Amino acid sequence: LEARDCYEVLGVTRGASEEEIKRAYRQLALKHHPDRNPGDAAAEERFKEATAAYEILRDPEKRSRYDRYGHAGLKGAAGAGFGGFEVDLSEALRAFMRDFGGFDSLFGTGGERGGRGGRGDDLRVSVKLTLEEVAKGVEKKIKVHRQVVCETCEGRGSRSKAGTRACATCRGSGQVRQIHRSFFGQFVNVAPCAECGGTGELLQDRCPTCGGDGRVDGSETLAVQIPRGVREGNYIPVRGRGDAGFRGASPGDLLVFIEEKPHRIFRREGNHLVLACPVSAARAALGGEIPVPTLDGVGALDLPSGTQPGQLFRLRGKGLHPVNGGSPGDLVIRVDVTVPNKLSAKEKAAYQELLRLEEEAAPGRKGGLFRKMKDALGGPPDESPDDR
Ligand SMILES: [Zn+2]
Ligand SMILES: [Zn+2]
Repeated sequence: LEARDCYEVLGVTRGASEEEIKRAYRQLALKHHPDRNPGDAAAEERFKEATAAYEILRDPEKRSRYDRYGHAGLKGAAGAGFGGFEVDLSEALRAFMRDFGGFDSLFGTGGERGGRGGRGDDLRVSVKLTLEEVAKGVEKKIKVHRQVVCETCEGRGSRSKAGTRACATCRGSGQVRQIHRSFFGQFVNVAPCAECGGTGELLQDRCPTCGGDGRVDGSETLAVQIPRGVREGNYIPVRGRGDAGFRGASPGDLLVFIEEKPHRIFRREGNHLVLACPVSAARAALGGEIPVPTLDGVGALDLPSGTQPGQLFRLRGKGLHPVNGGSPGDLVIRVDVTVPNKLSAKEKAAYQELLRLEEEAAPGRKGGLFRKMKDALGGPPDESPDDR
């Protein structure tokens, strides 16, 4: 059988860094680990193949030889075992354990069941809120796909109540003694047991539903209370609603991240709301009360006469309540003076009358504004603006 390309096996590019190679291998090895796939010969082959590829690519010297000559470059090389592409399962397990610890210990079960290590993953979901929902707070129903405790084995990973038995290989100690001979004599090295991943225990009567993990894929719909005043990027932790833990270890948390939908008319600035409010030229000039929309209905704003375009007004306390309490923000209203683009006959007559009055009030100023502008810009003094 022709050996597959090492890079292809690990699913990395030829330029992959050591870190990328390690990460890719770890992921593959966890997926195909014999402990997770008992009796699955195909998985075992994949595990061995990935390990062999990793052993070549993790070693700079072997890697450069492989890059130049392919698998042929490694045949009969020093440090046999992974020289070629042949590897047996115990070698593969040892190699895996050397870099990553035992399979079980990756999940932190070694004697600290329920400890931080075996804890389920935290999960992140996001909810989109309207500004109205942010203003009042809201209860959201959220569907979450998560690992839940296996019902068959109640999370033990085993169908028997005892769950585990002592590992025969290490006699329950979790450690094996390896004797090395060298020029200086022989010495004893103590290493974690590959058979049980250093836990000293082996699962008995492995649960067929969860494969010994103690948890299975599931989903759940949760009602999550979201307080008023939250903002994009905030999250609500829901304790214990992340993935279930490995073999009965404590579950992770669900983190509900807030996203904000843009509002049709209000823009949020912290706890203040900003509103661009169209006001007619006549209303701006005369002043008076105008209705303005607020988040919870309609408010009133008293404009002074002679209100200018872009002028800002505040309705105090009509903004959002801060999420941590305290006084609410304001509704900031920016006046957008509007000029009609179509006039009825009556309006036209009124505007003409207004114009006549303006010119009558200051006859000497006729064209005065344009002259001032031209002077400021240094243009020819006699050019009429209408010529352009
Ligand atoms: Zn053992
Ligand atoms: Zn189970």
